[in-house]
Amino acid sequence: MKIAILSQDASLYSTRRLKEAGEERGHQIRVVDYVRCYMNITSHKPMVMYQGKPLENFDAVIPRIGASKTFYGTAVVRQFEVMGVFSANESQAISRSRDKLRCLQILSREGIGLPVTGFAHSTQDIDGLIELVGGAPLVIKLLEGTQGIGVVLAETHQAAKSVIEAFRGLDANILVQEYIKEAAGMDIRCFVIGDKVVASMKRQSAPGEFRSNLHRGGTAEKIKLTPEERSTAIRAAKAMGLRVAGVDLLRSNHGSVVMEVNSSPGLEGIEKAAGVDVAARIIEFLEKNATLGKTRDRIQY
Ligand code: ADP
Repeated sequence: MKIAILSQDASLYSTRRLKEAGEERGHQIRVVDYVRCYMNITSHKPMVMYQGKPLENFDAVIPRIGASKTFYGTAVVRQFEVMGVFSANESQAISRSRDKLRCLQILSREGIGLPVTGFAHSTQDIDGLIELVGGAPLVIKLLEGTQGIGVVLAETHQAAKSVIEAFRGLDANILVQEYIKEAAGMDIRCFVIGDKVVASMKRQSAPGEFRSNLHRGGTAEKIKLTPEERSTAIRAAKAMGLRVAGVDLLRSNHGSVVMEVNSSPGLEGIEKAAGVDVAARIIEFLEKNATLGKTRDRIQY
């Protein structure tokens, strides 16, 4: 097969591993910096141009779209879809998952367990918002944040009120969420491909920190999922329409709840912690599914 990895940096671990895994399995792999692509939107011969030449005859693309490039990145993925090229994740599903609120709304509609969450922009009724999610301690998140930046633990009602007021002053969209104390700084990343969890790891936060992000000093280890966690992760990816997804869970007193669903999950932490060749599993998935014209995302932009 001829596969394009849509990534801004060929030296990133995930990009390198996908290229390696594809080549090992006998495919022709090209890393394409999607922000440098340009497109012609015509009904007869839609094209994606790159370095002066059209990107033609690809069987599949693997989008690795950076959070800050979602708008242009998904437009490039969509153009490949218009051309009938199979994408490891469809453009719509990527856009959907990038919006944390939309993500939670879709998951709640599917009846998937979530932390009790409130959403606000400029409410005057801050006390009411805090009570809505069961009072302090609670977690306040900036909707635009990634890698744990913009996620704050407010231990008292007063602290929660001050933080919410501060964010309101900045004109930011925020989520207010029950604090899952019993998770004790641990979260679980489930790597879903198609209808399977192919690898999982737990991440433990550094001492004194409640956020388990590896960027915040957390450490990762292999973990065995319960059957419920496995099915929750698969249902969550499916609800979002993602074929490849990183589903993050927290173990709470009311069962494991979904915190987030990621459309470009990193490979480095999970391959090392779980000891699974996740890159090869993605390529295998494409081998099974990337038959020309199988893309669903034709009209529902
Ligand atoms: P980001 O997308 O920026 O990584 P997350 O929503 O994943 O933000 O939060 C970062 C970390 O904070 C999580 O990995 C988790 O360890 C911790 N965390 C987030 N929400 C909660 C919560 N409601 N209860 C307990 N811990 C949480």
